[in-house]
Amino acid sequence: MKYLGITLERPKIGVFDFTGCEGCQLQIANKEEDLKDLFDLVEIVNFREISSDRREDYEIAFIDGCITTDSEVARLKKIRKQAGILVAMGACACLGGVNNLRSRFSLSDVIREVYDRHHINTGPVRKVADVVHVDIELPGCPISKPEFEWLVRHLVLGIEPQFPKYPVCVECKQRLNSCVLDMGLMCLGPVTRAGCNAVCPRNRLGCWGCRGPSEEANFESLIEILREKGFTEEHIAERVKFFNAFSGVLNSDR
Ligand code: SF4
Ligand code: SF4
Ligand code: SF4
Repeated sequence: MKYLGITLERPKIGVFDFTGCEGCQLQIANKEEDLKDLFDLVEIVNFREISSDRREDYEIAFIDGCITTDSEVARLKKIRKQAGILVAMGACACLGGVNNLRSRFSLSDVIREVYDRHHINTGPVRKVADVVHVDIELPGCPISKPEFEWLVRHLVLGIEPQFPKYPVCVECKQRLNSCVLDMGLMCLGPVTRAGCNAVCPRNRLGCWGCRGPSEEANFESLIEILREKGFTEEHIAERVKFFNAFSGVLNSDR
């Protein structure tokens, strides 16, 4: 591939699924008209959701999902050994994500209530960085395809990607959204990293914190405001813990 007249290497990439809904991988495969541009930039050598190729010579690995079993730990470590750059992709990989809800219940209760006593192989929910070194975290639930493509372009050009450090509220103001918190809805936008274009508030939904904490977030102040607005401790805890993005923030965590 040539960019501004310079020949660029087409890095080989692999996309690997662990415990999650695979929605982040689906985002990459979505919108077929963009795929040709992606294939021009990179060579996809291992990506179960879209290809039967299973090559092991990938240079960049994208990890989708959190880690819940010993066999996943072993597989992830093997991928880490091969990949020059490892990207944790989506809230499950970066934070544990919605899977962390499982940790609120005993395994025997989960098996009885959900799996009708069928044996399941699962352990504690771990984010990818709990097991191996992560070079880049691509946030979101699911990831955004434009942000994935933006990241791939940076990797191909060898430029370090800079994700927003400011909170979702900034994007809300830029888009002249009405504040859903003022309308009486719970919103974690003041403490959540931007980059999603405030998609939830734009659609009259509160933010759930899927992109993880923003830099210098003032959790105490937000929780105080939520209490003043009449949200119960239970409601606040449910929201704050949902993606496992803000562990240690609530007094009950300490
Ligand atoms: S981050 Fe969200 S969309 Fe991606 S795998 Fe996890 S649950 Fe699915
Ligand atoms: S809706 Fe949420 S993210 Fe938007 S300005 Fe209000 S508190 Fe901030
Ligand atoms: S508004 Fe919040 S929950 Fe919605 S996509 Fe953005 S960071 Fe995620």
